Amino acid sequence: MTDGKQITSIREDTAVALKEKIPNRMLYLALITAEEIMGLNGVRSILNYANLPTFIDNYPPNDLAEEHSTSNYTAILARTIDLIGERGARAIMFRGGMKAFRNMHENFPSLFNIQDVNPATSNTEDRFEEFARIYGIMVDASVPIWGDIFKYYPCEEGVALEISPCNHCRGLKTTGPICAAQTGFQFGTAQWIIGRPIEITETHCIAAGDPMSRFVMHRPSREASAQRSNGPLLTCCPRRLAAAASRARPPPAFAAPLLVWPSRPFRRGYCR
Ligand SMILES: [Zn+2]
Repeated sequence: MTDGKQITSIREDTAVALKEKIPNRMLYLALITAEEIMGLNGVRSILNYANLPTFIDNYPPNDLAEEHSTSNYTAILARTIDLIGERGARAIMFRGGMKAFRNMHENFPSLFNIQDVNPATSNTEDRFEEFARIYGIMVDASVPIWGDIFKYYPCEEGVALEISPCNHCRGLKTTGPICAAQTGFQFGTAQWIIGRPIEITETHCIAAGDPMSRFVMHRPSREASAQRSNGPLLTCCPRRLAAAASRARPPPAFAAPLLVWPSRPFRRGYCR
């Protein structure tokens, strides 16, 4: 933070496809997840700085009523970036996305009441196809929550998700892709279904000047699966690789020990 001045700008826009109100449950999840990562005082600081004191020690109820503006979610992200910088915020958001998936899965299993899953599928390639199919169902289920902002399709590397306008970076302006909460959520979902990490790339980000936010979930190759026993690979689009290469090492939050999934046996069957 620089002298209390808010440096991450939030642009006004006229995004009609993105819903104006966010379900209480999404804000509640974001806040309990943030609290798990940053602690209660960390969340209080962010909320104070984001000019949202009404939520301090007073999170929205975990129901589906749409009472608060979607921009509250963006404000929390923007002020997190201000406080700890893009790189640190990206790391926290990635972990937040993973935790949000776990919290959603554990607290609201009905959201994952997906039929016709074939848990007997055993090899990684087949499991990726299963992931791609189930993730598509989850994208469809997200439309009533966020609005008609998603485009999901197969691509050369695996499957791609485009979001425009982007519910994660709406109005934000950053130097690099910032929707790490989305990549973390995808990572958590893939881990859950495939049972191992996959490579996820945010190739485009509206906050960084692209026309849409775009995420590629890579189909694991046999060789890569063998090489990569743990941890995700987060990559950038080619024009940002030079900048990324200058970073000496990944942020500590990306270190493998923090990304190890809670020790639970892989659940056979994907719903409760
Ligand atoms: Zn983005």
